[in-house]
Amino acid sequence: MTAPDTPSSAASRLDWGRIRLFAMDVDGILTDGTVCISSDGSEAKTFSILDGLGLVRLREAGITVAWISGRASGATTRRAEELRIAHLIQGRKDKITALTELMAELGLQPREVCYMGDDDIDAPAIEHAGIGVSVPTAMPAARTAADYITTLPAGRGAVREICDLILAARSPETTASDTRA
Ligand SMILES: [Mg+2]
Repeated sequence: MTAPDTPSSAASRLDWGRIRLFAMDVDGILTDGTVCISSDGSEAKTFSILDGLGLVRLREAGITVAWISGRASGATTRRAEELRIAHLIQGRKDKITALTELMAELGLQPREVCYMGDDDIDAPAIEHAGIGVSVPTAMPAARTAADYITTLPAGRGAVREICDLILAARSPETTASDTRA
C-alpha cells in the first residue's frame, strides 16, 4: 500500500532550487478572484500580506517575479509598485505567449520557471513551466495542468507557500531586511 500523496511529498519531488523566475496570474492567485466595484466605477482588491512578504524575500534572493494578468487594474498596478514587482504585464489573456516572451527576454529555460494560475487560459503556461502550480479553487484545466496544488487558498497565502518552497530549496537561512509586505 502506497502512502497518500501529501502536499509535502508532492512538493519534494519537484526541483524548486532551479527556479529563477516565479511568474503568476493575479486574479484568483494573488486575490481570491473577486473584485469589488463601486458605483463610481472604482475597484478594490484584497491582497495578502503573507504573499507580499514572500515576494519581497524572493526579490531579495535574486529570483525574478512577474505578474501576468488578463485584466488591466489600477489596484494591481498599485500593489505591484508597492512590492517592486520586476515585470508587471496586464491586459494579456494569451498567458503562454506573454510568459514565453518574458522567458526569451530573460534567457530562461522552462525548467528555470515556475508559473502559477487558476483559470483555463493559464493552463498552457502552467504546462509549459518547469513547475506549474495551481490552487484548490482553480478551474479543472488549470488543476490538471499543474504539478503542484497549494494547500493554502488563493489570496490567503497560496503564493507565500510557493515562495517558501523556492526559498527553502535555495537557502535555508534566508532573511528579509525589507519588510514592506
Ligand atoms: Mg486568474
